Amino acid sequence: MTLSIGQIKYNLFQINETDDDMHLNVDAYLYIGEERAVLIDALQETEELYDAVRRITDRPLELLITHGHPDHAGKAVKRFAEEGIRMWMSEKDFSLYQDFLDDPLPAECFSELQDGQIFDLGGIQLETIMLEGHTPGSAVFLDRKHQYLFAGDAIGSGHFWMQIPGCLPLHNLKTAIENLLEKTEGMDQLAVYPGHRWQSPVQLNRQYIKDTLKLTEMIMDDPKIGKEQEMSMNGKKIRFCESSYGMMLGYCYNPENL
Ligand SMILES: [Zn+2]
Repeated sequence: MTLSIGQIKYNLFQINETDDDMHLNVDAYLYIGEERAVLIDALQETEELYDAVRRITDRPLELLITHGHPDHAGKAVKRFAEEGIRMWMSEKDFSLYQDFLDDPLPAECFSELQDGQIFDLGGIQLETIMLEGHTPGSAVFLDRKHQYLFAGDAIGSGHFWMQIPGCLPLHNLKTAIENLLEKTEGMDQLAVYPGHRWQSPVQLNRQYIKDTLKLTEMIMDDPKIGKEQEMSMNGKKIRFCESSYGMMLGYCYNPENL
């Protein structure tokens, strides 16, 4: 397991966890305002994430969890709780979080993330936008002033998993992406920072979100456009289809969950 920290901007850090065989490659983001800081997601295996963050900033800190999958709300979450860090996650993902982990924290340890909630870091405001689909409680965080969007897995990372158990039907996702596009109208410089940044060879942007919506519509129109694929997850075989369009390079979906 390797933890590496990249600096996107003087006050914005990408914290990456990669395992040796590259099965796992996930990003968290540390965003530091004039008064406080947030860590967006908590990686999977890296228990020393809290210490890594504290080496960068001593500002008051909160943890924002984009969704309840174990590679975004992993082992480090416990330590953040012990340190008294306020942790936010959508209530709709609590059970998902608890199903995936061997030894999860009780739901009471988390504050309930709400659509429209603003996190004011001092000079930086992050607006919470719920974006269901990948999970029922997926959230993205929008910095309007600097045109950054921290998206977790809600719109994928150049590749997109909508085929696994727990994903909502594509029509739910379609409505949620339409809402995101409405809320980011005119933001031509929007930079998307997803949960698995390595999956796209280019910086994701608003065009990527539009391409994802377009492909969602194309699939709903004709579920057969994708290529049939198979994967195994927790010992179970999952059959799914995969398609691409524009900047969306691999959209995995269940043709029976539209
Ligand atoms: Zn996920």
